[in-house]
Amino acid sequence: ERARLDRLRHTPAVTLDGHPIELLANIELPSDAQAVLDAGAVGVGLFRSEFLFMNRAGRLPGEEEQYEAYSKVVKALAGLPVTIRTVDIGADKQLDRTPQQMERVDHNLNPALGLRAIRWSLSEPEMFGEQLRAILRASVHGKVRLLVPMVAQLREVRLLIEAIERAKAQLRARAQAYVDVAIGAMIEVPAAALMLPSLLKYFDFVSIGTNDLIQYTLAIDRADEAVSHLYDPWHPAVLRLIAQTIAKAQELGKEVSVCGEMAGDPAFTELLLGMGLRSFSMHPTQVSSIKKRILRVDSSVWNKHIDLICEADDPQVTYGRLQTAVPGHV
Ligand code: PEP
Ligand code: MG
Repeated sequence: ERARLDRLRHTPAVTLDGHPIELLANIELPSDAQAVLDAGAVGVGLFRSEFLFMNRAGRLPGEEEQYEAYSKVVKALAGLPVTIRTVDIGADKQLDRTPQQMERVDHNLNPALGLRAIRWSLSEPEMFGEQLRAILRASVHGKVRLLVPMVAQLREVRLLIEAIERAKAQLRARAQAYVDVAIGAMIEVPAAALMLPSLLKYFDFVSIGTNDLIQYTLAIDRADEAVSHLYDPWHPAVLRLIAQTIAKAQELGKEVSVCGEMAGDPAFTELLLGMGLRSFSMHPTQVSSIKKRILRVDSSVWNKHIDLICEADDPQVTYGRLQTAVPGHV
């Protein structure tokens, strides 16, 4: 069994119809880097940097501490891509109480709709500058990509680009090295999915955050148990937004990945491959089972059924019926 898993780790993920699939890992702390390599993932698709900021009494990590943390992962990955997401603080991911910041984050009526993620970062320019400089500096040690959570408006995008330019100018003034890293947007708010071509004028790649995309499309708080039965990845509106985002990004020649839970759930593998997805990012422990599944899927067969599934009243039922009908399905 061990030998079999070892072999699987070194087997490239390729569909039956010959499409190479990129399997990336989601991590939360630098100590997770080894698990990425052990899983046979070909890089980090989502480094949730907010975990460096959480569970700390008081002082938050400054530029040097972040630089060390990011560099550690980038060096461990030895040239494989490391996608570092800027802090996604707020809503389900709270800081410990620190005097100034919490005042504004905690007392909102609807934290999921409040000052979180990129909104929070733009409202804390000093802290955001420290993080951007730390990421840019770590990029000299390997292949870094910068990912921004919860983008919803072009006005934020313009401020983001200004902040990145400012961080680079500061590094130049200090004669510190950096690389012009690729910049990506999380697609996790329906507005972003619906205006993708405008966003893609400013971004090199996108990563679909299905966890939040479901929450914001269906108006279901992902942390509220009273409505968790309505939190439905199979909702046709959710599937259409995902399919549309993948197709549009590819049409515009930009890389697209899925880094929400759906990417690591084998129940959705054929569906996402059929939609044309070629890059998945998931918890390291999910990589081997998703790879096994990919090796058995003919994505061209599933591609023909995508419209039917997305337009069904109950896509999960339609998909299930098709799965039993598709030849070779186990
Ligand atoms: C998502 O929303 O799908 C996602 C990957 O980000 P997070 O779960 O950290 O909000
Ligand atoms: Mg999210």
